Amino acid sequence: MRSPTERLLLHICCAPCATVPIKRLKERGFEVIGFFYNPNIQPPSEYKLRMGQLNKLDIEVIYGEYEPWRWFNLTRGYYDEPEGGKRCAICIRMRLGQTALMAKKLGIEYFTTTLTVSPYKDADMINTIGYELGTTYGINFLRENFKKRDGYKESIRIAKELNLYRQHYCGCIFSKRK
Ligand code: SF4
Repeated sequence: MRSPTERLLLHICCAPCATVPIKRLKERGFEVIGFFYNPNIQPPSEYKLRMGQLNKLDIEVIYGEYEPWRWFNLTRGYYDEPEGGKRCAICIRMRLGQTALMAKKLGIEYFTTTLTVSPYKDADMINTIGYELGTTYGINFLRENFKKRDGYKESIRIAKELNLYRQHYCGCIFSKRK
Protein backbone atom coordinates (compact mmCIF):
# COMPACT_ATOMS: atom_id res chain seq x y z
CA MET A 1 0.00 0.00 0.00
CA ARG A 2 1.41 3.40 -1.00
CA SER A 3 1.71 6.33 1.33
CA PRO A 4 -1.62 8.28 1.43
CA THR A 5 0.30 11.49 0.79
CA GLU A 6 1.24 10.60 -2.79
CA ARG A 7 -0.10 13.18 -5.21
CA LEU A 8 -1.52 12.52 -8.64
CA LEU A 9 -2.08 15.04 -11.42
CA LEU A 10 -5.28 14.07 -13.22
CA HIS A 11 -5.66 15.29 -16.77
CA ILE A 12 -9.34 16.27 -17.02
CA CYS A 13 -11.07 16.31 -20.41
CA CYS A 14 -14.39 17.46 -18.92
CA ALA A 15 -16.18 17.51 -15.58
CA PRO A 16 -18.55 14.54 -16.18
CA CYS A 17 -15.64 12.26 -17.15
CA ALA A 18 -13.67 13.41 -14.08
CA THR A 19 -16.29 12.30 -11.54
CA VAL A 20 -15.49 8.59 -11.43
CA PRO A 21 -11.68 8.89 -11.66
CA ILE A 22 -11.64 11.39 -8.78
CA LYS A 23 -13.77 9.09 -6.62
CA ARG A 24 -11.77 5.97 -7.39
CA LEU A 25 -8.36 7.60 -7.08
CA LYS A 26 -9.27 9.14 -3.74
CA GLU A 27 -10.46 5.72 -2.55
CA ARG A 28 -7.01 4.41 -3.46
CA GLY A 29 -5.41 7.03 -1.22
CA PHE A 30 -4.17 9.54 -3.78
CA GLU A 31 -4.30 13.28 -3.24
CA VAL A 32 -5.82 14.25 -6.59
CA ILE A 33 -5.09 17.55 -8.33
CA GLY A 34 -6.87 18.26 -11.61
CA PHE A 35 -5.26 19.65 -14.75
CA PHE A 36 -7.47 21.06 -17.49
CA TYR A 37 -5.45 21.23 -20.67
CA ASN A 38 -7.53 20.75 -23.81
CA PRO A 39 -6.56 22.98 -26.76
CA ASN A 40 -8.48 20.52 -28.95
CA ILE A 41 -11.87 21.87 -27.85
CA GLN A 42 -13.80 23.97 -30.34
CA PRO A 43 -15.42 26.40 -30.55
CA PRO A 44 -13.95 28.61 -27.78
CA SER A 45 -17.44 29.07 -26.28
CA GLU A 46 -17.62 25.29 -25.78
CA TYR A 47 -14.18 25.35 -24.15
CA LYS A 48 -15.39 27.99 -21.68
CA LEU A 49 -18.56 26.05 -21.01
CA ARG A 50 -16.67 22.85 -20.18
CA MET A 51 -14.08 24.71 -18.13
CA GLY A 52 -16.83 26.49 -16.17
CA GLN A 53 -18.10 23.17 -14.78
CA LEU A 54 -14.90 22.25 -13.00
CA ASN A 55 -15.60 24.27 -9.87
CA LYS A 56 -18.34 21.74 -9.10
CA LEU A 57 -15.69 19.05 -8.57
CA ASP A 58 -14.30 18.54 -5.12
CA ILE A 59 -10.61 19.01 -5.99
CA GLU A 60 -8.10 21.74 -6.76
CA VAL A 61 -7.84 22.29 -10.52
CA ILE A 62 -4.92 23.81 -12.41
CA TYR A 63 -5.81 25.42 -15.74
CA GLY A 64 -3.45 24.97 -18.66
CA GLU A 65 -3.23 27.38 -21.57
CA TYR A 66 -5.85 27.34 -24.29
CA GLU A 67 -3.70 27.23 -27.42
CA PRO A 68 -5.82 25.83 -30.29
CA TRP A 69 -3.32 27.02 -32.93
CA ARG A 70 -0.83 24.55 -31.48
CA TRP A 71 -3.38 21.75 -31.72
CA PHE A 72 -4.26 22.57 -35.33
CA ASN A 73 -0.55 22.67 -36.25
CA LEU A 74 0.17 19.30 -34.66
CA THR A 75 -2.80 17.54 -36.24
CA ARG A 76 -2.42 19.10 -39.69
CA GLY A 77 -2.62 16.38 -42.35
CA TYR A 78 -4.89 14.25 -40.16
CA TYR A 79 -8.07 16.33 -40.14
CA ASP A 80 -10.01 13.67 -42.07
CA GLU A 81 -9.01 10.78 -39.83
CA PRO A 82 -11.87 8.89 -38.17
CA GLU A 83 -12.35 9.22 -34.44
CA GLY A 84 -9.93 6.85 -32.72
CA GLY A 85 -7.36 7.19 -35.53
CA LYS A 86 -4.05 9.01 -35.95
CA ARG A 87 -5.42 12.49 -35.18
CA CYS A 88 -6.65 11.24 -31.81
CA ALA A 89 -3.28 9.67 -30.99
CA ILE A 90 -1.57 13.03 -31.67
CA CYS A 91 -4.24 14.91 -29.69
CA ILE A 92 -3.97 12.59 -26.69
CA ARG A 93 -0.16 12.67 -26.77
CA MET A 94 -0.23 16.46 -26.78
CA ARG A 95 -2.55 16.70 -23.78
CA LEU A 96 -0.89 13.97 -21.73
CA GLY A 97 2.56 15.31 -22.57
CA GLN A 98 1.63 18.67 -21.12
CA THR A 99 0.23 16.92 -18.05
CA ALA A 100 3.47 15.00 -17.53
CA LEU A 101 5.47 18.22 -17.86
CA MET A 102 3.23 19.99 -15.34
CA ALA A 103 3.52 17.09 -12.90
CA LYS A 104 7.29 17.24 -13.22
CA LYS A 105 7.35 21.00 -12.69
CA LEU A 106 5.20 20.71 -9.55
CA GLY A 107 7.02 17.66 -8.17
CA ILE A 108 3.86 15.53 -8.35
CA GLU A 109 4.66 11.82 -8.30
CA TYR A 110 1.94 10.41 -10.58
CA PHE A 111 -0.22 11.41 -13.51
CA THR A 112 -3.10 9.89 -15.42
CA THR A 113 -6.17 10.95 -17.41
CA THR A 114 -9.97 10.86 -17.31
CA LEU A 115 -10.08 9.94 -21.00
CA THR A 116 -10.49 6.19 -20.40
CA VAL A 117 -13.97 6.72 -18.89
CA SER A 118 -15.43 7.08 -22.37
CA PRO A 119 -16.65 3.94 -24.13
CA TYR A 120 -15.46 5.59 -27.38
CA LYS A 121 -11.84 5.74 -26.22
CA ASP A 122 -9.28 2.97 -26.54
CA ALA A 123 -7.75 2.55 -23.08
CA ASP A 124 -4.81 0.52 -24.42
CA MET A 125 -3.85 3.30 -26.82
CA ILE A 126 -4.13 5.94 -24.08
CA ASN A 127 -2.17 3.86 -21.59
CA THR A 128 0.59 3.14 -24.11
CA ILE A 129 0.98 6.87 -24.84
CA GLY A 130 0.88 7.74 -21.13
CA TYR A 131 3.47 5.13 -20.28
CA GLU A 132 5.84 6.35 -23.01
CA LEU A 133 5.49 9.94 -21.82
CA GLY A 134 6.00 8.91 -18.20
CA THR A 135 9.21 7.14 -19.17
CA THR A 136 10.38 10.14 -21.20
CA TYR A 137 9.75 12.68 -18.43
CA GLY A 138 10.53 10.45 -15.43
CA ILE A 139 7.03 10.59 -13.90
CA ASN A 140 4.90 7.60 -12.91
CA PHE A 141 1.98 7.16 -15.29
CA LEU A 142 -0.93 5.35 -13.67
CA ARG A 143 -2.38 2.90 -16.19
CA GLU A 144 -6.15 2.90 -15.79
CA ASN A 145 -9.35 2.01 -17.55
CA PHE A 146 -12.03 3.93 -15.70
CA LYS A 147 -14.84 2.62 -17.89
CA LYS A 148 -14.43 -0.76 -16.19
CA ARG A 149 -16.89 -1.67 -13.41
CA ASP A 150 -19.59 0.42 -15.14
CA GLY A 151 -17.49 3.56 -14.81
CA TYR A 152 -19.18 5.36 -17.69
CA LYS A 153 -22.69 4.67 -16.37
CA GLU A 154 -21.61 5.83 -12.92
CA SER A 155 -20.14 9.03 -14.39
CA ILE A 156 -23.50 9.86 -15.98
CA ARG A 157 -25.28 9.27 -12.68
CA ILE A 158 -22.90 11.51 -10.70
CA ALA A 159 -22.94 14.18 -13.44
CA LYS A 160 -26.74 14.33 -13.15
CA GLU A 161 -26.52 14.61 -9.36
CA LEU A 162 -24.05 17.51 -9.67
CA ASN A 163 -26.03 19.09 -12.50
CA LEU A 164 -23.00 19.07 -14.80
CA TYR A 165 -23.19 20.06 -18.45
CA ARG A 166 -22.66 17.00 -20.67
CA GLN A 167 -21.51 17.57 -24.25
CA HIS A 168 -22.39 15.35 -27.19
CA TYR A 169 -19.08 15.31 -29.06
CA CYS A 170 -15.49 14.60 -28.10
CA GLY A 171 -14.08 18.09 -28.50
CA CYS A 172 -12.39 19.03 -31.75
CA ILE A 173 -14.23 20.63 -34.65
CA PHE A 174 -13.88 17.38 -36.64
CA SER A 175 -15.65 15.33 -33.98
CA LYS A 176 -18.42 17.95 -33.87
CA ARG A 177 -19.18 17.84 -37.60
CA LYS A 178 -19.32 14.05 -37.99
S1 SF4 B 1 -11.97 13.23 -31.66
FE1 SF4 B 1 -11.40 13.80 -29.56
S2 SF4 B 1 -9.45 12.73 -29.12
FE2 SF4 B 1 -9.81 12.69 -31.35
S3 SF4 B 1 -8.71 14.48 -32.13
FE3 SF4 B 1 -10.81 15.14 -31.78
S4 SF4 B 1 -10.80 15.96 -29.67
FE4 SF4 B 1 -8.93 14.76 -29.91
